Amino acid sequence: MATVNTVLGPIDTAELGFTLMHEHVMCGFAGVFRDCPELLGENMMERAVDDLKKAKKGGVDTIVDATTIDLGRDINLLVEASRRSGVNIIACSGWWMDIPRFFAGISPDQLADIFTREVEKGISGTDVKAGILKAASDMSGVTAEGEAILRGVARAHHRTEVPIMVHSYSPGRVGEQQLAILKEEGVDLGRVKMDHSNDTTDVEYLVWLLEQGCYLGIDRYPGRNVSPQGRTKTMKALIDAGYADRICPSHDRLAVHVMAATPMITEEERLRMNPHGFLYVKEAVFPLLKELGVSEEIIDTLCIKGPRNFFEGV
Ligand SMILES: [Zn+2]
Repeated sequence: MATVNTVLGPIDTAELGFTLMHEHVMCGFAGVFRDCPELLGENMMERAVDDLKKAKKGGVDTIVDATTIDLGRDINLLVEASRRSGVNIIACSGWWMDIPRFFAGISPDQLADIFTREVEKGISGTDVKAGILKAASDMSGVTAEGEAILRGVARAHHRTEVPIMVHSYSPGRVGEQQLAILKEEGVDLGRVKMDHSNDTTDVEYLVWLLEQGCYLGIDRYPGRNVSPQGRTKTMKALIDAGYADRICPSHDRLAVHVMAATPMITEEERLRMNPHGFLYVKEAVFPLLKELGVSEEIIDTLCIKGPRNFFEGV
């Protein structure tokens, strides 16, 4: 029996159920919830809980909250959101790409100590433990700071056995660099999920990642640059290649986020692109997969088998 740390305590992997492997209850920057709540808009807690309640009602049992410290992770917020909505929430440790100046000279082992403590003892002075580790690199490839974080995450993984999610830039095949570093650190790539893999339509590259043993986060929906239909066709190709049990569809949705006076995208447009919230994959992606010829048997287990296998280290 394998267990996973959720924000309300460990659960058996059999209880994970329908799991979205890359989401955000609230996303911004370090300290935003506590220190700058005005930026998150009115009634942010209610809005987050409503969004999650809708997800729960629609059949979502569990989400992985991919919000690291630098993205504004607030562990008490996640506890309250989970308690009030009934959705299991798995919190992450690790770091995204907002690297503070004072990181200069910080070693992978120093970071590994923090990440390990967050998995073994708790986050922000609570006894709430992280269930997954996260590292990130984007368009510019693995920077020096990104490398220190990735190595720190790898070392915390060795100490805790908690699996790793990697924010990657698939159009630039940045996963090749990230996996090379993880291999150097001796990480079993079967414990690694490469995220944002549907930002590319390069199936050959994605199959290469899968052949290395990784799981793939098909986790940007509706997403930008690549159309939602294009993303789903890529997923179909990966299913046809035999990898249905190693892919994890999700949205990378921010239930609550910083409300800029001049946003990149208006709330109306956001709602028009995705009227289903955390149920978009169920409501808009799965029907297209079915139309494309994927069997109901596979579709029904897509957000169940991959996540469970990943946490069990199968
Ligand atoms: Zn994300």
